[in-house]
Amino acid sequence: MSAETKSPLRIPPMIQKTEKQPASAERREVLETNPWHMAMQQLDRAGTKMNMEPLVLERLRHCKRILTVSVPVRMDDGTLRVFEGYRIQHNLDRGPAKGGIRFHPQVSLDEVKALAFWMTMKCSVVNLPYGGAKGGIICDPKKMSIGELERMTRRYTSEISILIGPDKDIPAPDVNTNEQIMGWIMDTYSMTIGYSCPGVVTGKPIDVGGSLGRREATGRGVFYVTRELACARGFDLRKAPVAIQGFGNVGSNAAKVFAEHGCKVVGISDVGGGLYDPKGLDIDEIMLYRAKNDTIADYPKAEHVAADKFVELPCEILVPAAMENTITAENAPRVKAKYIVEGANGPTTNEADRVLNQRGVVVVPDILANAGGVTVSYFEWVQDIQSFFWSEKEINARLQDIIVKAFREVEEVAQREKVDLRLAAFMVGLTRLAKAVRIRGTFP
Ligand code: GLU
Repeated sequence: MSAETKSPLRIPPMIQKTEKQPASAERREVLETNPWHMAMQQLDRAGTKMNMEPLVLERLRHCKRILTVSVPVRMDDGTLRVFEGYRIQHNLDRGPAKGGIRFHPQVSLDEVKALAFWMTMKCSVVNLPYGGAKGGIICDPKKMSIGELERMTRRYTSEISILIGPDKDIPAPDVNTNEQIMGWIMDTYSMTIGYSCPGVVTGKPIDVGGSLGRREATGRGVFYVTRELACARGFDLRKAPVAIQGFGNVGSNAAKVFAEHGCKVVGISDVGGGLYDPKGLDIDEIMLYRAKNDTIADYPKAEHVAADKFVELPCEILVPAAMENTITAENAPRVKAKYIVEGANGPTTNEADRVLNQRGVVVVPDILANAGGVTVSYFEWVQDIQSFFWSEKEINARLQDIIVKAFREVEEVAQREKVDLRLAAFMVGLTRLAKAVRIRGTFP
């Protein structure tokens, strides 16, 4: 079944026109959680505030290239299954397209479009010489064997090879994709062109041209941004209890880095449920528990919290690092955190954002908060191209420089213009991007 027929998120393209006919509650909910609708509202909000010329905005309202592929895979039982996949390049004005690939049952065209748009904005906010892209396959990797995953990844790579390349479009890990999968992408692409091409993908294993520090980079970036926030808004990070939603690559590494720096992580969760201890959780021990069990939800030495109640936990800093739409208009009034640092892409709906702003909750937006991952991806790509590799110390120091600089720039705009950090981040990203769009002009 395709994403188009399966997704409840499918909506007509002329969203802005819906104001005239009052939307039903059900329709409002569908619009609230549609990522592309969300992304375009964010763009419009920034464009209006900045008085941005329509030419630039109109360009950014469209993805440059959208490729839908069918991915036939021979399953272990001998049957053939065809998966639907996408690779979308939103914009290339500032450089080659960059962005991850996710494997998830809820992948949809609108989701991948939004994620590609957010990559364009993210790379611009932290000033990396990239445009934005994203890819995905509608599948449930948890129900697939390693052989099936490898065959699916390789065939998908072959299908999108007309778009990707080290100077064109560079994939990376995202939800449910990891170093091994990036290794298969690198190998498949290299086999096709006849020589090894490490720069075609980032987030690879170190042994085939991956970078030190890439695995922890997103979580580390989340920490650096939170530390700057504490400095700017005058609170003591070590005294601020942190709750982290999600225990994938971003959430688990964020928890580790926060704990390493002496912060108190009082809550963490995964799909199975959440854990809470007001005295602080032992992250190292939970990591070990996770290595032996499917979920952290049954870890015995903490209070258990239902997954859908996790964002309401008592804490000062909440890091949503799971999926989109976990903070909505419905639960935003009950969020107790004073600061939200978005480790995931699109975890807060725009309606929830408005509620949180009214309540004085500060939200550090995804396009800034989780930019550490793509920043070290950029370092990996630079190292691959030069075949010259840096130390982990150097990588972390450069990551910190970039994230701190971007945060300060966004914070300065937020204070000067008296706007929230999401709008400020969009203003910083859009200013840079618009310059490139104007200079390059319209061909022919
Ligand atoms: N998937 C990550 C993101 O959403 C990383 C992308 C990359 O490294 O290219 O930012």
